[in-house]
Amino acid sequence: MNQKIAQHRHCRSCGKAFVGDGRYCSEECEKGNEETLRKKKRQLLLLYVVSVLIMIGALVVSVM
Ligand SMILES: [Zn+2]
Repeated sequence: MNQKIAQHRHCRSCGKAFVGDGRYCSEECEKGNEETLRKKKRQLLLLYVVSVLIMIGALVVSVM
């Protein structure tokens, strides 16, 4: 009874349960998720750069 639960995985992209190896239920999910991750990484980097710029700007203003 537990075997069914133990053997299935959840797709990292769509969250669907599937049987087999890997993190994704299909190649499409794998590609789609990689794309999403790449976009998220870029957004995070942008956010980081912007906050650093704001900090530098505040520092410069407080010094002057
Ligand atoms: Zn999937």
